[in-house]
Amino acid sequence: MRHAFRSRRYDGQAEDVSVCGATCALVRELSETDWCTAPTCAACNGILRAEQDSRTAARDASTGP
Ligand SMILES: [Zn+2]
Repeated sequence: MRHAFRSRRYDGQAEDVSVCGATCALVRELSETDWCTAPTCAACNGILRAEQDSRTAARDASTGP
């Protein structure tokens, strides 16, 4: 399962918390192919999409007439 992470610094970290709140062990040995073919976490996607929508709505509201 591919979770989304907000933090990009993973050096030295054994685990990190994903966008959907799951604590995941960071697997360094995961190959690029495995990573690209793994199913994306729907919860992470939904949260990120909702945040993007709210940012877009706020921007539209502030630039309106
Ligand atoms: Zn997730």
